[in-house]
Amino acid sequence: MEFDAIVIGAGFAGLYQLHALRDRLGLRVRVLERGGDLGGTWYWNRYPGARCDSESHAYRFMFSRELFEEWESSERYPAPAEIRAYLDFVARKFDLRRDIQFGTHVAAARYDEGANRWRVETEAGERFSAVWLITAVGCLSAANVPDTPGLADFKGRWYHTGKWPHHGVDFHGRRVGQIGTGSTGIQAAPVIAETALHLTVFQRTANYSVPACNRPLTPELRQWVKSSFEEIRATARSTINGHAFRISERNALEASPEERQAVYERAWAAGGLQFRATFRDLLTSRAANDTAAEFVKARIRAIVKDPVTADSLADIDHPYAAKRPPIDTNYFETFNRPNVSLVNLRKDPIERITPAGIRTQGSAGVREHPLDIIVFATGFDALTGPLLAIDILGRGGRSLREDWKAGPQTYLGLQMAGYPNLFTITGPGSPSVLTNMPVAIEQHVEWITDCIALLRKHGVHTIEPAEEAVTAWGEHVQECARATLLWDAKHSWYFGANVVGKPRVFMPYAGGLARYARHCANIAARGYEGFIMDRRRAAEAATPVAQAGV
Ligand code: NAP
Repeated sequence: MEFDAIVIGAGFAGLYQLHALRDRLGLRVRVLERGGDLGGTWYWNRYPGARCDSESHAYRFMFSRELFEEWESSERYPAPAEIRAYLDFVARKFDLRRDIQFGTHVAAARYDEGANRWRVETEAGERFSAVWLITAVGCLSAANVPDTPGLADFKGRWYHTGKWPHHGVDFHGRRVGQIGTGSTGIQAAPVIAETALHLTVFQRTANYSVPACNRPLTPELRQWVKSSFEEIRATARSTINGHAFRISERNALEASPEERQAVYERAWAAGGLQFRATFRDLLTSRAANDTAAEFVKARIRAIVKDPVTADSLADIDHPYAAKRPPIDTNYFETFNRPNVSLVNLRKDPIERITPAGIRTQGSAGVREHPLDIIVFATGFDALTGPLLAIDILGRGGRSLREDWKAGPQTYLGLQMAGYPNLFTITGPGSPSVLTNMPVAIEQHVEWITDCIALLRKHGVHTIEPAEEAVTAWGEHVQECARATLLWDAKHSWYFGANVVGKPRVFMPYAGGLARYARHCANIAARGYEGFIMDRRRAAEAATPVAQAGV
């Protein structure tokens, strides 16, 4: 089947890209989605306690005022079902479903140079082709299940949080082991503990967390959201992280210890990722960061009653927010429950999974932890994983898997050299996971759409970045990360450190979303600086399926 554009994925990114290309440019577009319905991340992540850490008034599209004002969220942080309902609302409003094919797992995409088309093949053997190929596959969609010896022999059931069964999991009367204490594990543990007979949390790296302070939105707050479109959008688009809250202008050490304490206490009581915004230099000055880190560690020790457990939970080895900072609902309090225990894997690493549970061996000798259910909250093969899961072949049959052996190489996280007309929404090298995703997604979709519109208008046949532009961007991405404390958490998934054998390269762009967006706009304004556009091939090309509406 032939299209002008194929979009892979029907989460936020795929939906908006479909709308933009089809309804603004008049292209024939097909969206191919692996899941059985809309949602992307929110289709798969239905684990207990799952909730978006971005506030609901900013975790939505802002490209249309009408769309923004028509939707009402029920809580401060939306749960997956509400986000799916929102995306369904978007799809209905713009009649998007008719161009989305669900249950369609893209296995390969090959650039056919002669025809200047991307040839896409699904696992089921269906074939599609298009001039433009846009990946909207998400950054955190390739589940990472560690290759722990013995898993195949485990007699109980096990689940990864990112592929949670839609019918749910009943923990009543079960002994549950949860591996992982990232944002997901920190959300899941308190909810699992409510019904499980016993929950054992296996912690490799202790983590900071700040209360989310989730609550229903009052009628007044809902009214404020409706009437604050301009303000919310302007803020979200002007901050480094795409959230709709401002970051303090003040440095932490400019405040007296008493003032700082009061600022942190207020932020702790208010809850949310705003804790990171209490001082402007928390991610650039270690001394500043230490003040926030010490505050959170003191809170953990104050909440958790058992001193050994408190020590393990507060023994955090990286600066605050150098790994993605979780927010929680009663995470540390959960360890005061009689049915919850913590295993510190730094002291007692997992030796193997046995038919009956998990065996650790370390300071406490050999210990068997009998389990009925293991929950892997072990994260994702982030950013590159979802792209490399597709066998992508570019010009001359070059392979993305080969090209990225030493780490991802992109220009702006939007394109790769040698892969003409392939765009990656929130790809590695773009702000992506360091932001409130819908805002980053909108910026990418709009940039890609404007680019395609312009190329079609001028009869340009292909666009791809120059190798030098890719190299320079890669260096800039590393440089931006090096200027922050994110660089100090070498074991974070931002570096790919959570996946065995993955190259250690800092993947997202840490220079800030607003700065990045300006940079992308300037590049476009300067005639797509760093990109190679091939006009000569236009004459040879197959006639586009639809005529541009530009
Ligand atoms: P994650 O941050 O990568 O955390 C994975 C956890 O599993 C870490 O504690 C990790 O320990 C542990 N782990 C991994 N492999 C292990 C192994 N072999 N043995 C023992 N422990 C192991 O993954 P995540 O919590 O799923 O979060 C990923 C990202 O998804 C977040 O950072 C966030 O961006 C996003 N997310 C967003 C939301 C939201 O907005 N609501 C919620 C959840 C997640 P180490 O730290 O030692 O590697």
